[in-house]
Amino acid sequence: MSAAHVEASVSGDGSVRRRIRVRGIVQGVGFRPTVYRLAAERRLAGWVLNDAEGVLIELEGPASTIDDFLAELQAHPPPLAQITAVETAEIPATGEMGFGIAPSGGGRRSALISPDMAICPDCLRELMDPADRRFRYPFINCTNCGPRYSIILDIPYDRPKTTMQGFAMCPRCQAEYDNPADRRFHAQPNACPVCGPTISLHDADGRAVPAPDPVRAVCDALLAGRIVAIKGLTGFHLACDARSDEAVRELRRRKGRDQKAFAMMAASVEALAQRAEVGDAERTLLESRERPIVLLRKRAGHDLSALIAPQSAYFGFMLPYAPLHYLLFENDFPPMVMTSGNLSEEPICREDDEAVSRLAGIADLYLLHNRPIQTVCDDSVTLIQRRRPLMLRRGRGYAPRPIVLPVESPEPILAVGPELKNAVCLVRGSQAFVSQHIGDLKNALAARYFEATIEKMERLLEIKPTVLAHDLHPAYLSTRYARRRGHGAEALRLVGVQHHHAHIAAVMAENGLEGEVIGLAMDGTGYGLDGTVWGGEVLRASAAEFTRLGHLAYVALPGGDAAVEHPVRTAWAFLVMAYGEEEAARHCVGRMAGTAAGDRAFWSQLIAKRVNAPQACGMGRLFDAVSVLADVCESSTYEGQAAVELEGAAEGAPDDLAPYEFAMAAETPLRAWVIDTAPVIRGVVADVEAGRPRPQTSARFHATAAAMLREAAQQARRESGLTRLALAGGCFANDRLVRGLVPALEADGFQVYVHREVSPGDGGIALGQAYVAAARLRAEMKSHS
Ligand SMILES: [Zn+2]
Ligand SMILES: [Zn+2]
Repeated sequence: MSAAHVEASVSGDGSVRRRIRVRGIVQGVGFRPTVYRLAAERRLAGWVLNDAEGVLIELEGPASTIDDFLAELQAHPPPLAQITAVETAEIPATGEMGFGIAPSGGGRRSALISPDMAICPDCLRELMDPADRRFRYPFINCTNCGPRYSIILDIPYDRPKTTMQGFAMCPRCQAEYDNPADRRFHAQPNACPVCGPTISLHDADGRAVPAPDPVRAVCDALLAGRIVAIKGLTGFHLACDARSDEAVRELRRRKGRDQKAFAMMAASVEALAQRAEVGDAERTLLESRERPIVLLRKRAGHDLSALIAPQSAYFGFMLPYAPLHYLLFENDFPPMVMTSGNLSEEPICREDDEAVSRLAGIADLYLLHNRPIQTVCDDSVTLIQRRRPLMLRRGRGYAPRPIVLPVESPEPILAVGPELKNAVCLVRGSQAFVSQHIGDLKNALAARYFEATIEKMERLLEIKPTVLAHDLHPAYLSTRYARRRGHGAEALRLVGVQHHHAHIAAVMAENGLEGEVIGLAMDGTGYGLDGTVWGGEVLRASAAEFTRLGHLAYVALPGGDAAVEHPVRTAWAFLVMAYGEEEAARHCVGRMAGTAAGDRAFWSQLIAKRVNAPQACGMGRLFDAVSVLADVCESSTYEGQAAVELEGAAEGAPDDLAPYEFAMAAETPLRAWVIDTAPVIRGVVADVEAGRPRPQTSARFHATAAAMLREAAQQARRESGLTRLALAGGCFANDRLVRGLVPALEADGFQVYVHREVSPGDGGIALGQAYVAAARLRAEMKSHS
């Protein structure tokens, strides 16, 4: 370009031209209309377009006006947008007049996909307005709300590449779609009763049932105690009256779900505030666009079935988020169970036929619609912990929004996650895309969903991984998938990551931490470097490496997985450790009282002969044993049940009870030290034998766990000199433990880092694996350069 030409970039009237690249979640969220409006208001010339990298804008006008435009755009982007970068470059002015929206461009894909979002206030107003043409239309949406990730077939995000491809817009919808000043400009799922999807009612066999008002028919059926499968935004729910023991019991029986809590939907915060404790932080989270399930402390005197969340301290509640939910919950309809439409441990259903066949024998009635769901997402589950949200299950509303890693990965990575509560993670540069919750890979349907999710995320995000990060457990389906693929035609590089290192790295990733930290990784089970089962880990860790400073004492678990399912076996192992074989029989308190001497002898044999009795040191197992001894829970029908119920049993007891004794013992020099838990067991047993009430014993044990971890942190600091401390592992979903521990650690001068965006449980493992792999790749590059 000649010098004369460049000079012309500042024209006679002082106009300049700039090219502006905006990256992030900027497509399908009303970004271009916002740009259009801001440019028109300022009489700037130029254009805006969507391309595979995001949004590209060219603006021509006075420099100060363009600056003002950029400031306004970044201060007030459209509600669903998430801007990750804005890059500007001066280019020659062209004398262009007017501002327009140009056709979408091509190019390398890196635009981000928005999660599925709850109905916005504008659409909600129209939904309830009898004068509006979308009055009571269940598929109302606009660029600020509605389905996204769940309907996308491919990108760029345009209607023909969504499951709305089969619905041709009517002239009025098309006019909105084409008008840059309209809230529905390029709203890909835009629809109305004339041209869009419709709902329909079906009987238990899937046959259509004529109904003038299917929503009313469903409400009547629910009030009559029926179980209804409802197709929503990102999957199916099974619904029933949450006040009816009969309906809830029947749902448990048909779903094969014995005791795990059911989530509920309530008409409003006011409706659920009569049944559960709702503080300001809880209210904000419940009403957020993401509309997750929020765990709320139960209130005494509520009118809900005791079978909804037996033995738990919490109810899981969410507010309506799809327009259809608002229609169902109109006029203060009572709270309904709204649990994922699946059998226990299976992924949620996707297609109508699939739902009817898989939910056969469960649902009495189906409320279906003909907008296909391409990607299913479970509802997200959250908890307010120390006044801030904590993610327990990441799904609808959050996936596939990226988390920014503290470092750029030199290569694209796929982290395949653990076996239970699986989620996967794809990395490009510093962006880590954590998938929605996938589930328990031992289940065949979940295993298929795992592979389908990987395939789809790689395609939509256009990330071709060259590195696969995986757990060290050789039998995990995710590990086997990584090995198979790594050694296949693609010849990908494999990076094995120890489970608890991944937990700590995940906290570091989320909090932007580099360098070293002390990590407390407390969970049930994870494959250790020495082949034993780890889970009560005190680590010194960087993103790339770790050393094991200390851990909880080992016990042998008689029967391995059987001991996890039947914590009485674990409790027996702890009793034998605490008292010796002979005396242990005299201390079979709590739920141990119901065990037979013959069974105990058999378990002892397994331990003595080291047959199917793996050495384990998980904090989760200690919770299991105490739950049995404190007469709270003797079997585990879902993961973590004994611990959840132990926390529930402590409700009402003070936080500041004296802990039980425990001991820190250095095993041998140069080896990890051990926290001796035998005195804890003896303390619990003594309390139970003395007739101390259950809430007190449970609360004292929580105080003990906090005290042990506090002392472990101090010991680790003495050895390492580190003061940054990361907490991870499923045990830290326990609010009583966290309340007892974190303030004490902060008072001790630690900087404490916890999870917020991903689960402290195994749902966070993939993010940690990804960060470890990225850090190792970088370390290698440095050592080679
Ligand atoms: Zn809207
Ligand atoms: Zn229409």
